[in-house]
Amino acid sequence: MGDERVRDVVIIGGGAVGATLARALSRFHLDVALLEWQAEVAFGVSKANSGIVHSAMHASPDTLKGRLEYPGNLGWRQLHDELGFGLNNVGEVLVALDDEQLVRIEQIRQQGIRKGIPGTQAWTAERTLHAQPNLTREVKGAVWAPTACVFNPYEAVMLVADVARRNGVTIAEEQRVVGIDPPDVEDPDTPLTVRTETDVWRGRFVINAAGLFADDIAEFAGVRDFEILPRKGEEYLLDKRLAGIVSSIIFPCPSPVSKGTLVNPTVDGTIMVGPTAQTVDDKFDPSTTEEGAAQVFTNARKLVPTISERDIIAEFAGLRPVSDTEDFVVGPTERRGFINAAGIQSPGLTGAPALADLLVDILANEGLELEEKADWEPTAPHPVRFNQLDTEDQQELARRDPRYAHLICRCEIITEAEVRDAMDRGAHTLDGLKFRTRVGMGRCQGGFCTWGCMQLLAEHQGIPIPEVTKRGAGTWIVCDRDDHPVTTARTGG
Ligand SMILES: Cc1cc2nc3c(=O)[nH]c(=O)nc-3n(C[C@H](O)[C@H](O)[C@H](O)COP(=O)(O)OP(=O)(O)OC[C@H]3O[C@@H](n4cnc5c(N)ncnc54)[C@H](O)[C@@H]3O)c2cc1C
Repeated sequence: MGDERVRDVVIIGGGAVGATLARALSRFHLDVALLEWQAEVAFGVSKANSGIVHSAMHASPDTLKGRLEYPGNLGWRQLHDELGFGLNNVGEVLVALDDEQLVRIEQIRQQGIRKGIPGTQAWTAERTLHAQPNLTREVKGAVWAPTACVFNPYEAVMLVADVARRNGVTIAEEQRVVGIDPPDVEDPDTPLTVRTETDVWRGRFVINAAGLFADDIAEFAGVRDFEILPRKGEEYLLDKRLAGIVSSIIFPCPSPVSKGTLVNPTVDGTIMVGPTAQTVDDKFDPSTTEEGAAQVFTNARKLVPTISERDIIAEFAGLRPVSDTEDFVVGPTERRGFINAAGIQSPGLTGAPALADLLVDILANEGLELEEKADWEPTAPHPVRFNQLDTEDQQELARRDPRYAHLICRCEIITEAEVRDAMDRGAHTLDGLKFRTRVGMGRCQGGFCTWGCMQLLAEHQGIPIPEVTKRGAGTWIVCDRDDHPVTTARTGG
């Protein structure tokens, strides 16, 4: 897939950072490639998190992450208007349970005001309980911040990458970078050569947006001067039966190292509780634990006493790519053309669109010529959400296109037409479909719809059904005892 040609920019990593940068660069006459290790973009940290576009009060403006937070918040709102991914303006209620916490949350509100965040209010206990009647009666007061939203981060990142692709960026998946050639001492202007397991890519500039593995990529380039220390966060999703138990994101008063356990509505109508915050060694460990669950539910019940483990329908853990500087590591390095966008811990999702703009400025300062395209198209048709339409609109759609009359997922009411649209936008695995459409995310967790999705994926890609994967090579659903898809095993291929 790679070739001899020299790209203007090669981006390593297709998470929120890589995808928003790819889109930002796609407005200029540039040859850009984005290399992603996984089978699809947004399969890294950007898929396993709380899905909050933060209000932007919390992080200090003395840090880069704090400065990018509010512009990033505005950036996601604009992208939501342009692309139509799920995003709800639910706002944040930052709760104090004693007098000391009341002082602390007011300091956070004042920090927000200094950062230019509009609309924050200090609420009395009575006002807080009026807005959120299921909160503990222990509440002493709260700060209301209307700028916080919940969104579907994976859907958003996938649509952003799709726009970049529509505007000419090469999105190359299953391209794990395994090396970067040393600089040519005779000619330091030689482009960088990036080696993946299967291909070679060349770029005048290389952006290191590799999340948890950004320190390894910096090492390949000979400029490793930071470490990524993964910080695990466990999250628990509760049944839709609890929808409405809180209508905003409920934050506890934070500690110096963590924002604490949140209780929030998701875009899809479930309730999420979490995350934990534990530094771990293993960058590949997405396990949840009994201790983590106990901690999350004990803390969540301090805010919303009726929350119960009995309502868990799904759980997952994500690893924050925290750098040993505790801030984002962004900028040019001693290796000419090699630029870091690393250590993107929380609120990295929120800040990503603003970080993309900053990286464009850095590239321009480093000598990249930016000539705007006259025909750049920032928007794309918004995905249809059949289950959110009223009955008349559903009937009208089904009359016009019978694929809307064919349900693939009965729990979430997802139609064949929506699944096909997701495949046209790049989904080619079961998880790719799931994160774009919610197919398989309902109560039966794919028991009914997996087969229908496999049939559609096989037909779309022209492959036998057993070659369909959950999330890329090695994750076949139908396989023999050696974990090979049965057709390959039978033919000996
Ligand atoms: C539990 C949890 C909750 C969080 N909640 C929030 C929140 O609510 N709001 C918020 O703003 N932030 C939140 N965050 C932080 C946020 O998720 C991250 O800051 C953000 O997703 C980082 O994006 P990224 O693009 O840097 O990393 P990723 O999304 O991990 O992207 C990096 C990509 O690089 C790829 N890659 C790695 N190595 C290679 C290689 N060798 N070759 C090719 N590709 C490679 C990976 O596969 C990956 O897709 C949370 C994080 C966690 C863990």
